[in-house]
Amino acid sequence: MNTLQDALLHGIAKGLDRLDVQMLLLHALGHSPHDRAWLIAHDSDALPPEVSTRWLALVQRRQAGEPVAYLLGEKEFAGLTLWVDARVLVPRPDTELLLEWALEALQTSDGTGPARLLDLGTGSGAIALAIATQRPDASISATDVSIDALTVAQSNALRLGLSVRFAQGSWLAAVPGERFHVIASNPPYIAEGDPHLLTLTHEPITALTAGGNGLNDIRCIVAHAPAALLPGGWLLLEHGHDQSTSVRELLLEQGFESVSSRTDLAGIERCSGGRWPGAR
Ligand code: SAM
Ligand code: GLN
Repeated sequence: MNTLQDALLHGIAKGLDRLDVQMLLLHALGHSPHDRAWLIAHDSDALPPEVSTRWLALVQRRQAGEPVAYLLGEKEFAGLTLWVDARVLVPRPDTELLLEWALEALQTSDGTGPARLLDLGTGSGAIALAIATQRPDASISATDVSIDALTVAQSNALRLGLSVRFAQGSWLAAVPGERFHVIASNPPYIAEGDPHLLTLTHEPITALTAGGNGLNDIRCIVAHAPAALLPGGWLLLEHGHDQSTSVRELLLEQGFESVSSRTDLAGIERCSGGRWPGAR
């Protein structure tokens, strides 16, 4: 491998996606992973030996299934660049569906004091920080049971200069006695033993799986959310592609109103939510 072009071809020959190869090589060169125009203009440049060593290591890790976001140390979510590593789930574009719904629901909050939102199981901080960017007037809280995840989320908040209150604990127990206009969560929802997990071996298993066919965490959140919602407040949940009927049932049994689901771009119901009864 003498040139950048040789390095690119090496990555592709090892079975890596072309776009991943370009971003990873830019990273190995110390450039922004998004600077593909630079790479295209410089592909006949010589490949420095220390970059070559870094490159071979990155290709090997990617071949072993490590997410590109971990190798780059960052991931874009809703226009924000978030630091990510093996302590947190890589934020998925799918989750922007939940984010949009949460922003909409915040607009209907009663206007007595700042709108209050809670992001349960915040991971990298993705949902809470995206909302803090778009609603600087709102009061945003975020929780996780994982101290490691909260450390990552907190450093993202600091780096982005955004104000979010973080609390550690299991679901609603992290914010005892507090009440919110909107509670949003992308909890673990993959059933233990689901074959899909074989492709997700590098992310924290505690971010991915839940017992009871993947529904136990959602069940727990639905059961405890009413005590943490202001009258008329919304609970919004991301869930698996085949869980919308079960999640709507759980919400209805609990006494939520206006229960509905929203579809992703592929037409699959990936979020469900409901409104806790009460005056507005
Ligand atoms: N909200 C982030 C996102 O959308 O990218 C991360 C979502 S990840 C699917 C689920 C998160 O829930 C993980 O960060 C995990 O640590 C957290 N979690 C798992 N069990 C929890 C519990 N009992 N209480 C609070 N958070 C929990
Ligand atoms: N959407 C992720 C996936 O299937 C899982 C995230 C979750 O369990 N909440 O890859």
